[in-house]
Amino acid sequence: IMRAKGAEMKDCVKVAVRVRPFNKRERDAGGRCIISMASSTITIQDPRNSQSPRSFCFDYAYWSHSGFTRDCSGLYVPEEPGGRYADQGSVFQDLGEGILENALQGYNATLLAYGQTGSGKSYSMVGYGPNKGLVPTLCDKLFQAIRANQDSRQCQVFFSMLEIYNEQVVDLLSRGSRSPGGLRVREEQQRGFYVEGLRRVPCDSVEQLMEQGTRMRTTATTHMNANSSRSHMLIILQLKQVSHIAHITKQSNINLVDLAGSERQRVSGSEADRLKEGTAINLSLTTLGNVISALADVAVGKKVVHIPYRDSVLTKLLQSALGGNSRTVMIAALSPADICYEESISTLRYAERAK
Ligand code: ADP
Repeated sequence: IMRAKGAEMKDCVKVAVRVRPFNKRERDAGGRCIISMASSTITIQDPRNSQSPRSFCFDYAYWSHSGFTRDCSGLYVPEEPGGRYADQGSVFQDLGEGILENALQGYNATLLAYGQTGSGKSYSMVGYGPNKGLVPTLCDKLFQAIRANQDSRQCQVFFSMLEIYNEQVVDLLSRGSRSPGGLRVREEQQRGFYVEGLRRVPCDSVEQLMEQGTRMRTTATTHMNANSSRSHMLIILQLKQVSHIAHITKQSNINLVDLAGSERQRVSGSEADRLKEGTAINLSLTTLGNVISALADVAVGKKVVHIPYRDSVLTKLLQSALGGNSRTVMIAALSPADICYEESISTLRYAERAK
């Protein structure tokens, strides 16, 4: 199973936690900040039990650079902030740069955003306006690097965007391809798992493609009478490089994943469909947690017999870009507020398993 030695893999799974500012709902509820940080250690306080703060240690922990507005009672500011206030640019420097370098060297990478709906996953991954998130910035820098290197190698980038909903794959760049049951996931010896018939668009910018895919995701989910926060969105950037001198071809995949909201599914009005949906989402998230946790064990030299990639569609598709020489980054998104305690602690526990 192990393609690289323990020592080389040690840094291959990195976990960052990012706390967003309070939202209106939390402010209106008189929310209190239950998170504190000291460098990259994050502590969460159970609002109903002052005796039991829990601390977790990650590679990075960030406050939002903006939005912790101080009101007269000081409620919305962390009292002893510690940690770092990070904007989109610094988050990219910490998490995106390494993925980009790795990919240019010919290795695969996976970047995942985990957290409850509304915790800031899309803000970190996509962002908006001038606050570009990791995906658009990574793409900009990738195309810059390609232009800067064009004397020595010829590069091509292919873009795919898909959604996994209920363990079914929908191509977000191909209108009308929504076959019942979704696209098929196949396996080939050389290639590993792949989605049959998935559109791969050669490109030198991604803005339009991302817009198109995002629009399609919204209509697809409306169509299925579903909520897009319950689906996983996966962007695959495939980078092909041919060096002019040695004619060596390198190929690397960068997987960018905005995971389904991690909140427990409410089991109200639970028709069979909803129940099935809940289980399927949990299946992908649970399996992903198991895979990353097994990889983290491998990285510290523990003996691992089995990595359960095959247990969900998501982990099948990520297999070639998780573990081995690949770089994996997980960004766990959190609300600072007491009313989100249950979901926040469960996010921190999930993220901890990756270490
Ligand atoms: P999710 O994708 O997890 O459902 P969003 O990314 O849509 O959540 O974030 C919810 C809201 O919080 C959005 O209005 C977003 O702009 C804001 N937000 C999230 N993270 C940050 C941050 N680090 N700094 C400032 N605003 C943020």
